[in-house]
Amino acid sequence: LKRKPSSRLKELVRRASTGFYASLLMSKMEQGLRTRWNARQRARDLNSPAPLHVSDLMGNEFCLRQTWYKLNEAKRPYELHSYKKLMTWFDGDSGEAQLKRLFDIAKVPVASESELKQKKLVGRISGTPDDIRLFMSKLWIIECKTLYAAAWRRLVEPTRQYLQQVISYMMLYEIPRGIIAVKGKDVSEWKFFEVRLKRHMDVAREMADRIRRAVGLDNTIVPHRYCKKPSDRKAKTCPFRDVCFVRDAAKP
Ligand code: SF4
Repeated sequence: LKRKPSSRLKELVRRASTGFYASLLMSKMEQGLRTRWNARQRARDLNSPAPLHVSDLMGNEFCLRQTWYKLNEAKRPYELHSYKKLMTWFDGDSGEAQLKRLFDIAKVPVASESELKQKKLVGRISGTPDDIRLFMSKLWIIECKTLYAAAWRRLVEPTRQYLQQVISYMMLYEIPRGIIAVKGKDVSEWKFFEVRLKRHMDVAREMADRIRRAVGLDNTIVPHRYCKKPSDRKAKTCPFRDVCFVRDAAKP
């Protein structure tokens, strides 16, 4: 399939203009991040107690065929992520580490090992919240996000995707309460949103339905395509686009 020219070349040219060694050092840093990220992905795929993760079911658009490929393709393709994306994820890791440190300083205890175990795996789905803490004698799912300052300032309630993630964890761990903690990148501040399962039953139903459909997939039947054409928004970011539209072109 025809793809748009990568922005990678533009990035390399931009970097080269700042000095050869500066550019070389930055490329080395990028490679380090990429190797680390891919190793992490591989370890997650190998060690995960289930083949699908909650994050595989999230998003405004859901494609059961993509889920089928995730379950049945021998190897998940690893994308060549951009430097910007790698740095964004690295920032996310740093935010999560900071939040855990802040909770430790405030003496908000982490849940014990036995409490941390997933009570329900639903066969094919696993999920790992950023943290689970004991607060006011109750366990809380903690999910940490980082956002650029402008978006952070505008944020007055959790996005649908944040809710999908936390509510899926709530259902998997049987903990009906959580906190979504969002750090503003250039403002060094946090916003905390309290989330209760009973107030978001629409999201709970949506995610329960996706989990049910994923668990019920038959390994021998490829589900129907969600995208109409390879240029659809969802197809553009789908790692299985070629498999779906080229190799399996005959399967509707
Ligand atoms: S390209 Fe579209 S229809 Fe095909 S698997 Fe990916 S998301 Fe689903």
